[in-house]
Formats: sequence, structure tokens, C-alpha cells
Amino acid sequence: MNYDNDNVFAKILRGEIPCKKIYEDEFVLSFHDINPQKKIHALVIPKGKYIDLDDFCNKASKDEVVGLIKGINVVAKKLNISVDTGKGYRALANVSEHGGQEVPHLHFHIFGGEKVGKMVE
Ligand code: AMP
Repeated sequence: MNYDNDNVFAKILRGEIPCKKIYEDEFVLSFHDINPQKKIHALVIPKGKYIDLDDFCNKASKDEVVGLIKGINVVAKKLNISVDTGKGYRALANVSEHGGQEVPHLHFHIFGGEKVGKMVE
């Protein structure tokens, strides 16, 4: 499967669709999910064109991998839900069909601001 340049997150990265930005650096963009499932529901995406976590692990540079993981931590701190600043959160990536991934650009969901609940239904 090839990366789809017309997926919604690619359009957000190109500035063609607006987002409620939380954080941006060389490696990641983070914004609020348009359909929040918890009090806080953010997304953290790599700037590179990666379909899912497997694609990312296969192709991304070490700097990109570190940048994405560190980006999640920075966003959690900014949202006051990190262990330093709040009560914790869940970081989750859906991968492909069985994972229930809808947007084919790697993204981590960050849920918090309240107890997130059962891990899977
Ligand atoms: P997934 O099912 O893991 O692929 O999650 C895709 C997520 O993207 C869902 O939680 C959607 O609500 C969210 N989403 C879709 N379009 C947008 C958008 N334009 N801005 C922010 N979040 C979006």
C-alpha cells in the first residue's frame, strides 16, 4: 500500500485544512481531535509520510522515531496531563484494519483529563 497524499492529515500538514494546533516542531504536529472521545483528546502525528506504526518503524530515521516519542511527552506536558503536570493519559495508535485505523497517516491518540477507562472493548 502506498501513502495516500490526499488523506486528511496530509492536508492538515500542508495547511489545506485547518486544525486546532497544540504543538509543532521539526518532527511532529499535534492538534485536537475533531470528534473527542474524552475530555482531552489530542492527536500527535509525524511530519513524514508514514501510513502507520509499522511503516514508520520500517522507514523512519532514528531522529524521527525519537522526535515522535518525545513529541507525545511534550504534548502531554502542554495539556497538563503528564505525570509531571497532571494525572496521566493514554497514548494509543490504531494500526491498519484490525486496529481500526481510519486515517492512513500514522497518529497517536492522547486521551486524558479524566479516567480513560477500559483498555479495549
Ligand atoms: P483512527 O481511527 O485511529 O484512524 O483515528 C482517526 C481520528 O482522526 C478520529 O479520532 C477522527 O475523529 C480524527 N479526525 C478526522 N478528521 C480530523 C480532522 N480534520 N481534524 C482532527 N481530527 C480528525
